[in-house]
Amino acid sequence: MSRLDEIRDWWKPDVISPEKVKKFLEMYPIYRNDVNCPAFKSQKEIREIQNKNLQAQLELCQQYSPYYSKLFKEKNIDISKIKTVDDLEKLPLTTKMDYMKAPDSFKLRLAGVPGRQIFELIDWNITMTTGTTYGFPTIFWNTTHDEYALLQFLIRSSKISWGTPDDRIFDCFPFGPVPHIGYLRAITAPLAIGASVCAGHTGMAYPTFPVLRRMDEAIAIAENHKCTIIMGIASYIRRMIMRAEELEADFSNIRAIHALGEPCPMGMREDMRKRLKNLGAGDVFIHNGWGFTECQGSLSECTELGGNHNPDPGLYFLEVVDPETGERKADGEEGVAAITHLNRRGTVLLRYVLGDIVRMTHETCPYCGRNTERILPVSGSVYATRTKELVKFKGTLINPGVLKDAIENVGGIAEYQIVFTKTDPKDPYSMDQLVLKVAPVPDVNRKDLENKIRDAVAKAAEMSAKIEWVEKPSDIYDPMVSLKATRVVDARPPLE
Ligand SMILES: [Zn+2]
Repeated sequence: MSRLDEIRDWWKPDVISPEKVKKFLEMYPIYRNDVNCPAFKSQKEIREIQNKNLQAQLELCQQYSPYYSKLFKEKNIDISKIKTVDDLEKLPLTTKMDYMKAPDSFKLRLAGVPGRQIFELIDWNITMTTGTTYGFPTIFWNTTHDEYALLQFLIRSSKISWGTPDDRIFDCFPFGPVPHIGYLRAITAPLAIGASVCAGHTGMAYPTFPVLRRMDEAIAIAENHKCTIIMGIASYIRRMIMRAEELEADFSNIRAIHALGEPCPMGMREDMRKRLKNLGAGDVFIHNGWGFTECQGSLSECTELGGNHNPDPGLYFLEVVDPETGERKADGEEGVAAITHLNRRGTVLLRYVLGDIVRMTHETCPYCGRNTERILPVSGSVYATRTKELVKFKGTLINPGVLKDAIENVGGIAEYQIVFTKTDPKDPYSMDQLVLKVAPVPDVNRKDLENKIRDAVAKAAEMSAKIEWVEKPSDIYDPMVSLKATRVVDARPPLE
C-alpha cells in the first residue's frame, strides 16, 4: 500500500485524531525534521515565541519603517512598553486605506544598515492584493528573508492540510495581469514540500502574447499528470470539475481539493465530492483554506470545518478586533480580523485590518491536537465574510454568507447569483426584493428545486425570494472572463 493510500481517509472528521496526525508527520522527513514547529507546543510557549519576535519586529519598525516610526512619534507610543502580544492593544489599527495611500512607507529601509544580512536586503519578489476591495492592486514586498519564512509557512500549512511530497499538485489558479498569491503560492507550496506541480495556465488573455490555455486543455493536463491535488479558486475548480464530467475525464487520482480565495460552504463541498466520485475519485478532502496577501498563503483546515489553523504563529499574530475601537474580541466573538507581522523585512504591517469578519478560538484542536489559534466558521459553514458584503435589506443589515450557505446546501444548482433589487427597478423607493438567479443542473425538476430554494432561504434568513431561471451556467459565471463567480450583486440604485 502506498503512503498516499494509507493516509487517504485520515482527514475525515470521524477518522482524524492527534495520534494519526503525529503518525502522518513521522512518515515524511520534511515534516519530521521541522522540530521547531510550534503547533504542538503549549499556549504559553507559543506566546513566548510571539512576544520575543514581536519585540524584535517593533524595534525594526521604530527604526526603519517610515510609516510606523512616524506613527510612534506622532502618537507618543513607547514601544518598550509593548512587551507582549496582549500589549498590542496600545497600538492603533492600520487600515487598508493607510496602506494603500503609501504602500512603500511600510517597507523596512534596511539598505546600508550595518550588520544586516544579504537575505534581509534583497527584494525577492512582490505580490499584489487582487484589488477587488478598493479598486487598484497594492504592492506587497518580500525580501529573501521573507521568502524563506514563506517556505517555512507553506511547509507548515501543507502539513496541516495533509499535503505530501508524494503528491502531484495541479495549480488551477488563473494566470492574469496581477501577480497575486494564488497562482504563485500554489507553485511555491508544492516545491517547498518536495511535491511535483503543474499548472493550467488559463486566465485573462493578453492578445499580444496568446500563451494561455482553455479550460479543456487544463483538464487534459491534470488528467495526463494523474494529479492528486487541485489548488485554485473554489468556484473555478467546481466549474472545471463540471466540465471534466462532460468530457468524461479520469480524475480518479484526485484525493484533495484546496478550494481557496472564497468560501466553499459544505453544500458546495458535497456537490464537488459527488461530482469527483463520478470521475472515479474516492472521498475527496475539500479543504477551504482562508488566505490573504498579507500572510502570503492561507490558514489551513486539518479536517473539513475543523477550523482554519494559523500554520506559523511565530510569523503572524492574528486577533479579532472591533474595527472602531481596536479593542480585542474574546474567543468565539465575531469581529474583524487583524494581522501583525512578527518576523518580516519587506512590507511590515502591525494590527492590519484584513476586512474579513471572523471568529477565533485558542482551544486545542480536538481533531489534530494543535495549539495554534483557529478561525471558526462565522455563518453556517463559511469561515469569513467580507465586511463590504454586509448588505442592508429591508432596513436590516444582513450577511449574504448565510444565504449563500443555505442555497449551496440545496443541491441541483449549477450556478447561482443573489441579486438585491427593487420590486420596481426604476423606482428607487419601491420595496427591496431578493431575486435568485439560478442555472439548474440538467434534468432537475424545477418546481421541486424552486420550493427547496425558497424554503432554505426562508429558514436561513427569514426572507422570501423570487427565483429567475437562467439556462446557461456561463450566463451567471463565465470562468473565461472572471476569476471568481460573483455571488452577490446589489442592483439597487443608490439613494440620493
Ligand atoms: Zn486541527
